[in-house]
Amino acid sequence: MISKKMEPLVQNSSVIRAMFEEGAKMKAKYGEDNVFDFSLGNPNVPAPIEVKEAIIDIIENEDPVRVHGYMNNAGFEGTRSAVADHLNRLHGTKFSAKNIIMVVGAGSALNVSLKTMVNPGDEVLTFAPYFVEYGNYVVNYDGKLVVVPPNEEDFMPDVEKMKELITSKTKAVIINNPHNPTGVIYGEDIIKSIATALEEKQHELKSVIYLIVDEPYRELVYVDKPVPYVTKYYDNTIVAYSYSKSLSLPGERIGYIVIPDESDESDEFIAAATIANRVSGCVNAPSLMQLVIERCVDAEADVEFYRKNGEILYSGLTEAGFECLKPEGAFYLWMKSPIADDKEFVAKAKEYNILMVPGSSFAGPGYVRLAYCVSRETCQNSIEKFKELAKEYDL
Ligand code: PLP
Repeated sequence: MISKKMEPLVQNSSVIRAMFEEGAKMKAKYGEDNVFDFSLGNPNVPAPIEVKEAIIDIIENEDPVRVHGYMNNAGFEGTRSAVADHLNRLHGTKFSAKNIIMVVGAGSALNVSLKTMVNPGDEVLTFAPYFVEYGNYVVNYDGKLVVVPPNEEDFMPDVEKMKELITSKTKAVIINNPHNPTGVIYGEDIIKSIATALEEKQHELKSVIYLIVDEPYRELVYVDKPVPYVTKYYDNTIVAYSYSKSLSLPGERIGYIVIPDESDESDEFIAAATIANRVSGCVNAPSLMQLVIERCVDAEADVEFYRKNGEILYSGLTEAGFECLKPEGAFYLWMKSPIADDKEFVAKAKEYNILMVPGSSFAGPGYVRLAYCVSRETCQNSIEKFKELAKEYDL
C-alpha cells in the first residue's frame, strides 16, 4: 500500500504521463514531422563537443578508481574550485570550493537546500506561474508552498503581495530566473526590490528568510538584459544551478548549490547541506560528470539556436492573432489562451497536432506554455497549423 503523501503525486503524474503517451501515439500515427510537440523542456541541441571530448579523455586517461569512485559528499575539490573560479570570473564574487556543493541537477539542488532549512510547518513562497515541482519538493520536508498570485501585466513578481504573505513561518522564497514557464527575465530592479523587501521582513520578524534562486536557464538569454547574480544583492541567497539546459545534459543529472559565506551560519549550513545530499540517497553527484564539468566549466550553450526558434514562433503566432509574451530567456513561450479554459484550448490544439502544456499546470490559468527547444522545422512548419487553429477563435 502506498503512502498518503504519494497518493496525490501518483494521481497527478498519471495526467502528465497520459499527455506524453498521447504525443508518442500521435507521432506513430501521423509521422514525427507532422506532430508539433512543444510540451517538453528537453533540449534538442546536442551537448557542446568539449563535453564529448572530455568524457573520452577522462575515460581513456584518468585513473578509473578515481573516476568512478566515491569522493567527499560535496563533490571533487577540483570541480568545486573550477565552478567557484568560473563564477568569480563572471560575477566578481569571492567563492571558494567550500561554497559549492555538487548535486544531482537543479531538482536535487532545490531538495537538498529545502531539506537543510525547512522544519515541518514552515512556509516557502514562490510566484505564480511556477515550475510545478516546487510544491512537491516543499512537501517532501513537510513544509507548505505559499503561492504569490501572478501579475498578469508583465509577469514580473508582485513584491508587495509577497511582503503581505510573509509570516513568522516563512523560511524561504524561491525565484526562477530566467523563467519557466513565462520566458521573462527578472532584471536588477526586481531583484533589488525583492532583496529590500526580504531585508525589511527579516528585520521586522527577527528571522532568517532565504532567497533560493533556481537558475538552470541562466545562460539562455536573448535580450540585452543582464541576469543579476543574486548573492551580490542579498546575503541569505542560495543558488541552485544545473547543467541540464545550458549544456544539454538533463539525463546526466549534474548541477551545484552555492552557499555564500555571507549567508546565515554558512559553515553549519554547508555541513548540513553536504549531509542532506548524502542522506537523500544521492550520496554525491555523478563522479564522471563532475570531472567533465571541471574541464568544461566555460563551455557555452547554443543560445542563438534557441533565440531564432523563439523569434520564429513569437512572430508567427502574433501574426496569427495570438497574444504572446516576447521571449527574453529560457526556451519557453507564454501565450494567452483565446478562451478562459486553457485545458480546452490545449485539447482543441491537439486536433491540429499541436501539443502544448496548459498554463494551469503552472498555476497560470488562461495561458499555455510552448517549449521551443525543438527542431527549427517544427517551429517553422507549426505556424500554418497555428493559423488554422486561430481561425477557430476568429482571431
Ligand atoms: N527548475 C526549473 C525552473 C526547471 O524548469 C527545471 C527543469 O525543467 C528544473 C528546475 C529541474 O532541472 P534538473 O533537470 O536540472 O533537475
